[in-house]
Amino acid sequence: MRRTLYDTEHDDFRSAFRRFLEREAVPHTERWEESGLVDRSFFEAAGRAGFLGFEAPEEFGGLGIADFRYNAVMAEETVATGTAGDGFTLGNDILAPYLIGLTTPDQRERWLPGFTAGTLIPAIAMTEPGTGSDLQAIRTTARREGGEYVLDGTKTFITNGAQADLVLVLARTGERDGRGMSLLAVEAGTPGFTRGSPLHKIGRKAQDTAELFFDGCRVPAGNVVGEPGAGLRVVLGNLPRERLSMAVLAVAAAERALALALAHCRDRTTFGVPLGAHQAIRFELADLHTQVGVARVYVDRCVQALVDGELTAEEAAGAKYWTTDLQCSVIDRCLQLFGGYGYMEEYPIARMWRDARVQRIYGGTNEIMKEVVGRAVVAGD
Ligand SMILES: Cc1cc2nc3c(=O)[nH]c(=O)nc-3n(C[C@H](O)[C@H](O)[C@H](O)COP(=O)(O)OP(=O)(O)OC[C@H]3O[C@@H](n4cnc5c(N)ncnc54)[C@H](O)[C@@H]3O)c2cc1C
Repeated sequence: MRRTLYDTEHDDFRSAFRRFLEREAVPHTERWEESGLVDRSFFEAAGRAGFLGFEAPEEFGGLGIADFRYNAVMAEETVATGTAGDGFTLGNDILAPYLIGLTTPDQRERWLPGFTAGTLIPAIAMTEPGTGSDLQAIRTTARREGGEYVLDGTKTFITNGAQADLVLVLARTGERDGRGMSLLAVEAGTPGFTRGSPLHKIGRKAQDTAELFFDGCRVPAGNVVGEPGAGLRVVLGNLPRERLSMAVLAVAAAERALALALAHCRDRTTFGVPLGAHQAIRFELADLHTQVGVARVYVDRCVQALVDGELTAEEAAGAKYWTTDLQCSVIDRCLQLFGGYGYMEEYPIARMWRDARVQRIYGGTNEIMKEVVGRAVVAGD
């Protein structure tokens, strides 16, 4: 079905970004997978090319373009080229609304030029060893002392954690009868802020994921991002965009898996004919093709709704759980079509299979997404 989401500007941007990835990312992907880190110089190259924080005003090195369709193009291209795109989705899709939309003029001056140049790698730290789904239960505290907050606690599974220059940390600050939380921006090198050794994951191996420790860490009160005490509300307000970003990745990955499987089914011969000549295989491909096509239309519609300021929390949550479940099932079924080759590391479908699994876990697990949708449906919102 013909897509109507993009204009020619988006198509031109796609070509430029594809060329950038082929030059700056594809040749290094294997090495990044082995080291567990993307080179800092890659972020800087992306910044120079205008691919980081482009929503920021031009005076801070951005392009002043707030159109999530560009973010979607980037997600689709990182998936299509098989490159590590977590730095882009984390920076442009998840953190840009905090760093650009919620910061004070002083904070913008300090952080945005580095963010758009790729010299300031950001992260957001909400999850703790004791709680992830239930953010009301976090135990990290930030006690106000004069012009500073004293931060104590541990965060885990933090994307970009090992390399981050600026971490937005969700902590209890005790306003509103002790329930208040705030987001504190902690700069690398602040005494009392340390990092654990890299966490070894089953997939997305080029993505740096770390545990962070805060022990009597003194953060200037001027580093609170957004309204003090309203940190949880701020986080919840930004989650629909974060969840849609995952849905965009999910459909792009399902499409790529299907394209790889189709090519294999045309080439591979069994019992004297190509795989695709067996009716059982054709039925399988027909079902995959139809499911992916339906998902594509829904997610494109959600992207347009976000651009138009209409996407609801439950629509984003529904898109996240439904498409990431689909991503995992489509990739698994496509891997099956490769037979033993699908289990070999050198085949892209193998990496896609292990990289997909976390999509159902982070950004709010798919069970929590169903809670978000179910509550809204029952309430009749
Ligand atoms: C690779 C990776 C990167 C990540 N990056 C970040 C990051 O950058 N920043 C960050 O803050 N966090 C990050 N996370 C953390 C992620 O968001 C959490 O792991 C996730 O929210 C789930 O929390 P949890 O692991 O504590 O699981 P739990 O909350 O302990 O949940 C365990 C299981 O119980 C289910 N469950 C829990 N409560 C309910 C309920 N009420 N009803 C039904 N089922 C329920 C869950 O769905 C899940 O299946 C990352 C995680 C991974 C794996």
